[in-house]
Amino acid sequence: MPELPEVEALAGYLRERAVGRRVERLEVAAINALKTYDPPPSAVSGRTVIGAGRHGKFLDVLFDGDLHLVVHLARAGWLHYREAFGSTTPLRPGKGPIAVRVRLDDGSGFDLTEAGTQKKLAAYLVTDPAVVPGVAKLGPDALAADLATFAERIRSRRGQVKGVLTDQAVLAGVGNAYSDEILHTAKLSPFAITDRLSDDQVAALHAATRQVLGDAVARSAGQRAAELKGEKRSGLRVHARTGLPCPVCGDTVREVSFADSSLQYCPTCQTGGKPLADRRLSRLVR
Ligand SMILES: [Zn+2]
Repeated sequence: MPELPEVEALAGYLRERAVGRRVERLEVAAINALKTYDPPPSAVSGRTVIGAGRHGKFLDVLFDGDLHLVVHLARAGWLHYREAFGSTTPLRPGKGPIAVRVRLDDGSGFDLTEAGTQKKLAAYLVTDPAVVPGVAKLGPDALAADLATFAERIRSRRGQVKGVLTDQAVLAGVGNAYSDEILHTAKLSPFAITDRLSDDQVAALHAATRQVLGDAVARSAGQRAAELKGEKRSGLRVHARTGLPCPVCGDTVREVSFADSSLQYCPTCQTGGKPLADRRLSRLVR
């Protein structure tokens, strides 16, 4: 899933490549992906791309005349920039992984795609990004928050720190992968309870958040959209590395599985050497 650093890099790539270009046409192939109907997709034709940015994990493409294409890429969504499209034939609804295509006046453009059968990618054509429900409820940006703001937000919700850190209403931008990395860097158990964290632990979590996200943004800046996923994977120390050695201490990275996700952590670095209970596994072997 694209998180803050990847969405930031996609926005940066669009700023570099698409800003100043006029839109020929916006095509919607996955009808359910476009969550708004007014203004219609045809309203984008003829407008110029004047900016690209993000709100948490939402990408925001800005056209002249205050029109925004706001996109949540969800778990399997991505943006593919095309130097050229093979055909000028409009996309046929319901065919293939392409949800939305934006054609620009130099023949290039970009596709918003979604792999798999679970279709969660959501696009909104709006005059104000704040009307997008997911954007309206976002907390402060995880990378921009100063220590006081960060501490107030983390302690605003009592719960396991992994869940609180990935709650977009608490802080915006962190998902499953970077939360594993941040907790590893901060040497905190993913199951530590937020209101029992000491001031030092919250400060370590804040520093780790800035370091992990900042490093990832720096690494992915200037990367083409196609190269970003590999760049993300190469920078990870525990996430998606179950069974491999922790690069800090050499202990074996472990995993806790949930119904539709999993987390990875290093016992030596994060939990005093003790493996965390994996509820799914313990249920199986009971
Ligand atoms: Zn370790």
